[in-house]
Amino acid sequence: MRPANLCAEADIVVMNSKIKADAALLAVAKHLKMVCRAGVGMDHFDLPLLEARGILAVNTPGANAVPVGEQAVGMLLCMMHNIARADRQVRQFVWQREENRGVELLGKTVGIIGFGHTGSACARNLSGFGCRILAYDKYKSGYAPGYVEEASLAQIQSEADILTFHVPLTAETEGWGSRAFFASFAKPIYLLNLSRGPVVPLAGLLAGLEDGHVVAAGIDVLENEHLATLSTVQRTQMEALIASERVLFTPHIGGWSRESLTRINSRIVEQIADFLAKSGE
Ligand code: NAD
Repeated sequence: MRPANLCAEADIVVMNSKIKADAALLAVAKHLKMVCRAGVGMDHFDLPLLEARGILAVNTPGANAVPVGEQAVGMLLCMMHNIARADRQVRQFVWQREENRGVELLGKTVGIIGFGHTGSACARNLSGFGCRILAYDKYKSGYAPGYVEEASLAQIQSEADILTFHVPLTAETEGWGSRAFFASFAKPIYLLNLSRGPVVPLAGLLAGLEDGHVVAAGIDVLENEHLATLSTVQRTQMEALIASERVLFTPHIGGWSRESLTRINSRIVEQIADFLAKSGE
């Protein structure tokens, strides 16, 4: 059965990131009063439409910030110390020490774009590594704990050795990681994207790597995560990225810990109970 048809009788729908709460869903789900995203991010909701129909939309902010913060640091260390590549080599009976000499995090400058739940979790974890942490958040001020400096984007571009995106996907953030953006950095950067794929499009990432402005990239999210439906251009771009030793991929698992699954589901249940209590049902 198609997901939309499952919703035909439903008053409340809990959905994952593969389903959109849009006009097509609402055309079928005529009784809908509440939609819940089991995860973080409202980019799968047509919010103006849901609001116009009086349908409450919720997600679970912060519920998976801990694993994203942990995986960001894990991917960074893996890249800076060549861990995944060295592991692949040893499995092929190749023992290369000099070629896999690492770069230390100690003393480097990390730029964090977006200082909400996941950006601040990443900073907290990095605070023990002796690196300098700059954070840029367009919509906040006075947010930084003592181990973080609030910075402008220009300051991050001129000082960062490492850049990590922690912003939602919006019209402003889509396509941010372009060739021109990476070229605007004073130093070559290690890049992390655990936010949303379209924030760093495949073309921008490839260009940054080819131009040498991106040293290496840890990528948890892709412009198109349905790998079976890539366009010809996307497939060619993905093949080039896969062939590169400088890209570390994970399949959008940054927020997927065993603990966050429980946390997300508990928060969904609490929000549904609250909604039912308030609506007297
Ligand atoms: P959040 O809402 O707590 O924080 C996002 C921050 O980005 C906010 O502080 C906001 O002010 C800032 N921001 C928004 N637009 C900006 C802009 N144009 N410039 C600078 N800052 C901007 O969200 P979060 O929990 O930190 O998650 C961030 C995003 O990461 C989510 O929207 C989601 O898309 C993604 N995410 C991915 C995973 C994963 O599994 N990889 C898990 C959780 C979240």
